[in-house]
Amino acid sequence: MAERYRCTACGNLTRFDVVTSRRTRAFHHYTIGGDLEIEEEEVLDERVERVSCRWCGAAGDTVERVPVGSDAEHLHDHAP
Ligand SMILES: [Zn+2]
Repeated sequence: MAERYRCTACGNLTRFDVVTSRRTRAFHHYTIGGDLEIEEEEVLDERVERVSCRWCGAAGDTVERVPVGSDAEHLHDHAP
């Protein structure tokens, strides 16, 4: 199930800064002229390192993950 973030401090559901580290494998396809096109990018590993709220700046356990469509998603929803 898809997940989204929710700030338990201010109720923000829509605006977050997310720092992610990704390890990927990709096919780098160059033209003779040297232009690069990246194809078949595959994410081998993805780690969300930090999520912080754009509204109040809270981070860590204050920002929780909630499944999309759950009751928790709408609990404090006063986003514009
Ligand atoms: Zn917040």
